[in-house]
Amino acid sequence: MTQTTVPQVGHLIAGEMSAASDVRDVFDPGRLDEVVARVAVGTADDVDRAVRAAHAAFPAWRDTAPTERVRLLMAAADVIAGSGEELAPQLVREHGGVLWEAQTDFGLGTGVLQHTASLAEEFLRPLQFDDEQSFISVERVPRGVAAAIVPWNMPVVLTVMKLAPALATGNTLVLKPSPFAPAALTLLLQRVAAVLPTGVLNVVHGEGDVGAALTSHPLVRKVGFTGGISTAQKVVQSSSSTIKNLTLELGGNDPAVVLDDADLDATLDRMVKGVYTRTGQICFAVKRIYVPRAQYDRFADAFCERVDQYAVGHGLDPESSFGPLNNEAQYKKVLDLLDRTRNSSAKLVQLGRKVDPAGWDNGYYVLPHVARDVEHTAPVSCEEQFGPVVPLIAYDDEQQVLGWANDSDYGLGSSVWTSDPERGLAFARKIEAGSTFINTHSFESLDPRMPFGGIKQSGIGREFGDAGLSEYVEEHSIRRLK
Ligand code: NAD
Repeated sequence: MTQTTVPQVGHLIAGEMSAASDVRDVFDPGRLDEVVARVAVGTADDVDRAVRAAHAAFPAWRDTAPTERVRLLMAAADVIAGSGEELAPQLVREHGGVLWEAQTDFGLGTGVLQHTASLAEEFLRPLQFDDEQSFISVERVPRGVAAAIVPWNMPVVLTVMKLAPALATGNTLVLKPSPFAPAALTLLLQRVAAVLPTGVLNVVHGEGDVGAALTSHPLVRKVGFTGGISTAQKVVQSSSSTIKNLTLELGGNDPAVVLDDADLDATLDRMVKGVYTRTGQICFAVKRIYVPRAQYDRFADAFCERVDQYAVGHGLDPESSFGPLNNEAQYKKVLDLLDRTRNSSAKLVQLGRKVDPAGWDNGYYVLPHVARDVEHTAPVSCEEQFGPVVPLIAYDDEQQVLGWANDSDYGLGSSVWTSDPERGLAFARKIEAGSTFINTHSFESLDPRMPFGGIKQSGIGREFGDAGLSEYVEEHSIRRLK
């Protein structure tokens, strides 16, 4: 099937979408022979132009009254809300998700922008002390030009998680999208930029070299990054020469701990979607499931029965429960992990069905898998799968499972499943993670009032709410002696 209109996106610098001379094709991960966008190939010069545009726009945006900035950001939120229906299908053809997942990305992006903007005025009010000795004012001021670097899995909300606190507090922004999902996001940001003053929001495309040029640019004072740990290590290195502030949202290997009093049906209803939504390619997806040994077989059978209902196909096919993996590297990584699991003592079960068997090899499709009878130390349990496979691990007592849940270099999300709220809270408090959800672990678990981020190698800093706004300001302390 050939597509008729292929969007071509350039860099967005100072309000202008440039017509790039050098472009690369973006392919549909569910129909590998289809080009779905053409995107500019960036250079360090493009980065420099974008950063300078953001730097030029900074003083006026910083000095714009917070009320006015909030008004403009609320208009930007309306733009995102109003663009989902038109742009979500394009996003599906780039990131491989199903339509409701792409629409959810726009919906979450709208909500996060509205919520963050609604907090800004109160957040920016100076903290003042006036006594006999002195007058003190502690002011929260923007850092300057912020850089945002995002992956392909949920590009809209992951962008907004940086754009919203950056712009609400008076910074200007240069964003680098993922080369695997650049077009729908750029078309959206072109509309968002149009309701903001020129140069406040800029976009530059490219791969690692462009990311490095951005994170090492002397005029960039802040980097908000979401992606993998090994890329984050490069970001830390390249930003170190000019001592930039960083927020890093990295991978996860989230444990879900089922306690012995959990309601089996209610748990499965919510937990299964926490594993397979976005084909498992969510940083805080359920990635290891621990079940009391006495209930293990019953749980594993019921889990597999539900997963077997899934149909895997193209994201625009309404029959599809989930779509293909996003790219070749991810596809090969998941297939390799499945091979290693198949050749281990675990029992790897392949489930579900193919929506379009004839088109199966023309995409990065993988059926849902469940790894049963897995050791806690097995690769399928210790590595971030980022694909449609999850290990089910039997445990003997609470001390053991708590140790296993915390035995990871990651610490992003986690969950505990129980019918006793007090027991759930007590167990949650002992888990080492940025977030612990009780009786939930998927998109619906998120609330912008809860700071989101990781501990250990899952990251530095938080997004959402006042904690997220704090990442984009400096505290300026002023004191007058009387
Ligand atoms: P990635 O690290 O490969 O890429 C992320 C972004 O970094 C892309 O835009 C990429 O082009 C850019 N990049 C690559 N090299 C760079 C460099 N040297 N300097 C600066 N930028 C560079 O990650 P990915 O494959 O796109 O996404 C998957 C990873 O992201 C997974 O590990 C996943 O867990 C993580 N993730 C985390 C969160 C979170 O909020 N914690 C959310 C989604 C994904």
